Amino acid sequence: QEDQFKKVISHAKEYGYIFQSSEIYDGLSAVYDYAQNGVELKRNIRDYWWKAMVQMHENIVGIDAAILMHPTTWKASGHVDAFNDPLIDNKDSKKRYRADVLVEDFREKINEKINKDITKAKKRFGEAFNEEEFRSTNPNVLRRQKQIDEITEELTRVQEENDLEGFKNLIVDLGIACPVSGSKNWTDVKQFNLMFGTQLGASADSSTQVYLRPETAQGIFVNFLNVQKTGRMKIPFGIAQTGKAFRNEIVARQFIFRMREFEQMEMQFFVKPGTQKEWYEKWKETRMKWHLSLGMGEENYRFHNHDKLAHYADAAADIEFKFPFGFKELEGIHSRTDFDLKAHEEHSGKKLQYFDHEDNTSYVPYVVETSIGLDRMFLAVFSNSLKEEELEDGSTRTVLSLPPVLAPTKVAVLPLVKKDGLPAIAETIVEGLKWDFSVVYDEKDAVGRRYRRQDAAGTPLCITVDHDTIEDQTVTVRYRDTMEQKRVKIEDLHALIKQETDV
Ligand code: ATP
Repeated sequence: QEDQFKKVISHAKEYGYIFQSSEIYDGLSAVYDYAQNGVELKRNIRDYWWKAMVQMHENIVGIDAAILMHPTTWKASGHVDAFNDPLIDNKDSKKRYRADVLVEDFREKINEKINKDITKAKKRFGEAFNEEEFRSTNPNVLRRQKQIDEITEELTRVQEENDLEGFKNLIVDLGIACPVSGSKNWTDVKQFNLMFGTQLGASADSSTQVYLRPETAQGIFVNFLNVQKTGRMKIPFGIAQTGKAFRNEIVARQFIFRMREFEQMEMQFFVKPGTQKEWYEKWKETRMKWHLSLGMGEENYRFHNHDKLAHYADAAADIEFKFPFGFKELEGIHSRTDFDLKAHEEHSGKKLQYFDHEDNTSYVPYVVETSIGLDRMFLAVFSNSLKEEELEDGSTRTVLSLPPVLAPTKVAVLPLVKKDGLPAIAETIVEGLKWDFSVVYDEKDAVGRRYRRQDAAGTPLCITVDHDTIEDQTVTVRYRDTMEQKRVKIEDLHALIKQETDV
């Protein structure tokens, strides 16, 4: 698994998808740049989301709110007071850790031990092995499972009660060794706000403290009535937005899974109070369908319904995806009640109510939101697509099987040789296609090597111009995933590419 993840990271760099930010200065931790292919893949994912959410829903419109917002926004949303992570420093290594992550990691390590026991027993008992029975009778497993249950219970308690002392005791009692030095010498646990602050205005005494938004949602809430009135929107309706968000994450790891600067794609759906459960279920289903439509394998997704809810929510679920490091949150669907709009009414002194013409009532709508990280979706798509295949002749090929609709380049046009007028024909084909598709032209190296290069870059189709083309106006079309080839008339290319790469 770890190896696969390393391959994902190096492939993303080698094929021009993702670079570390400011690499020549040794990078900036948890900040990344999208390269020439990455920017296209990212844009295609964003477009695919926008099409499904805005274009396909008559009652959903988009906005693009500013990253900087009035500072009171973040008081109303709760981010100034409650957007904190519990931190603990190790005195020997002088390194800082997120207390909850440290405990969770410890719990996962115990789980790994259980899994190892199970794998061993499976090998030993073969066919006769019954995992359920083993889990419920093996003394080692039972002891470890009990420890996990106890840690889970205590972690939930200290998180709920915000018991910082309890956090520290948990870490010290468990004997969690500092991952670097093995020391158990910890400071007290402190709360740390995740928002990036900056100054608005130049002079020291007149400047105002503002924040880079930690989520895009609040730009939608504060514009709710503006959009409703000017768009003459009737409830239920939604407002969608994509854009940057910033969080000063403490444990920033796992490549673009957890970044300090990232992009969100969010939709807030405004509904009549009392109907939120229904809409929450509807959006869970709709969003899961969207993911499955990309054909990346049903077995790679699952719902995780939250038992423990944030203060603003009356129901919440994550869509989890199987990343190279296990099932993790990819998207959140939250029933946020009227918490945000009410809080903004209170802090701004302005009414944020909807007048319902049908029954002549005014009310603050309830909100069901869908919130997905664009970068996380990028990682899901990219890591799931990267494969190494054994071919019949014993060689291996690296292929990036991106869903064609998301692939940065749809077609590569290749003259078989660099002479006999083949490049000119290939270039004419490129000219004809580039109005509608992203196309590249490649004439360097033997054609087999060019195919491999396009396979690894994720291009779903290659078109090869050879000597027969001069005679009969046909070309070879080669499919990335199956390596199947067929002859196609030049005049039929447009329709074929559209069929293979459009939704
Ligand atoms: P996590 O528990 O992983 O920190 P979260 O529950 O705080 O995430 P939300 O606030 O619900 O996340 O944000 C919605 C979505 O935004 C997440 O499902 C995730 O895809 C994405 N996201 C959140 N934080 C980051 C980050 N630091 N880097 C990249 N994507 C992120």
